[in-house]
Amino acid sequence: MQTQLIDKFGRPIEYLRLSVTDRCDLRCHYCMPRGFKDFETPEHWLSFEEIEQVVRVFGALGTRRIRLTGGEPLVRKGLPELAGRLAALPGIEDLSLSTNATRLARHAGALHNAGISRINVSLDTLRPERFKAITQGRLDKVIDGLMAARDAGFAPIKINMVIMKGENDDEAEDMVEFCLEHGFTLRFIETMPMGDTGRNATDHYLSLQTIKQRLQQRYELIPGVMPGGGPARYMQVAGTELRIGFITPLSQHFCDTCNRVRLSVDGTLYLCLGQENNYPLRPLLRAGISDTELQQHIIQAIDLKPEKHDFNDKPGQIVRFMSMTGG
Ligand code: SF4
Repeated sequence: MQTQLIDKFGRPIEYLRLSVTDRCDLRCHYCMPRGFKDFETPEHWLSFEEIEQVVRVFGALGTRRIRLTGGEPLVRKGLPELAGRLAALPGIEDLSLSTNATRLARHAGALHNAGISRINVSLDTLRPERFKAITQGRLDKVIDGLMAARDAGFAPIKINMVIMKGENDDEAEDMVEFCLEHGFTLRFIETMPMGDTGRNATDHYLSLQTIKQRLQQRYELIPGVMPGGGPARYMQVAGTELRIGFITPLSQHFCDTCNRVRLSVDGTLYLCLGQENNYPLRPLLRAGISDTELQQHIIQAIDLKPEKHDFNDKPGQIVRFMSMTGG
């Protein structure tokens, strides 16, 4: 019986990103359009039982890492309960969360007790007025959430900053100082042409090679490593614990070592963030499929995984927004 998912390019698939909702309480302009209302209907959301079955089968097929994402995952009611059920499944070694932290102050303790060990928080600026301009939200709620997460014992806490030329790229050094002060890990992310919103954001595209060179004028950056299965290439600030990750899908992609697939809230398995290849699992789950049968479908699905994205060559290709599959 197969116990490891390997795609046709020889890449082991050991990381499942689970979007538990396509809804969010923010409207980051590079992700979800203002006033967007065309969300997935709740009847199509996978139930906790269905999510648990999918993760159980992925676990049996060697998937070790599960990341809860959205939209904003804390918008989905009962997330700590779901986390507890997933953390208890055989084979799942690493359960993490990506969040905008606006609701983290209320849920940090319960999430940590449920078995989530690491979190990534989206934070593109430290200026309240600029935060409002980018997200339509309040910065103070995010900062409160971050501090509550640190007090709850999450480690590491990673900050994800999407760099946008002429909008927040002047704050890269400030964000480094913020992470140094609070013991967070920092990751810079390039904009990606996901949906019209993403394409508009690529008007502000800035290669992170530029940011890296700028930071090297102020900090001694040494190649570093960081546990976790993500695509970031890390540098360490000499003499400190701070690691800075560079996520560069456009200027230096990382598809050769891709180890992940994504499940959307309606049970569609997306094989690549930058392609439309997908495999609907909900009809199978609603038909009462067994774990053994589901294994065969997931093995077939992984065969559909494309080699890489075409963000540079075909920037207009991906219609769906980032919020539909969670970064
Ligand atoms: S773009 Fe696709 S192949 Fe490349 S790293 Fe992302 S998911 Fe993997």
